[in-house]
Amino acid sequence: MHKIFKCPSCNNYTLQESCSKCKVKTLNPRPAKYSVEDKFGKYRRMYKEKMEK
Ligand SMILES: [Zn+2]
Repeated sequence: MHKIFKCPSCNNYTLQESCSKCKVKTLNPRPAKYSVEDKFGKYRRMYKEKMEK
């Protein structure tokens, strides 16, 4: 399985850690932190519901 990176400069997808066109470091378009934020969002909502009752 290949990792896919995205160039923040030209928005091209590449399998390399730097863009061959722009020579800048590419980013992972779907970083793992999004799932962590969703998890914390769920707990935040649960906590809020508890406090409102
Ligand atoms: Zn680029």
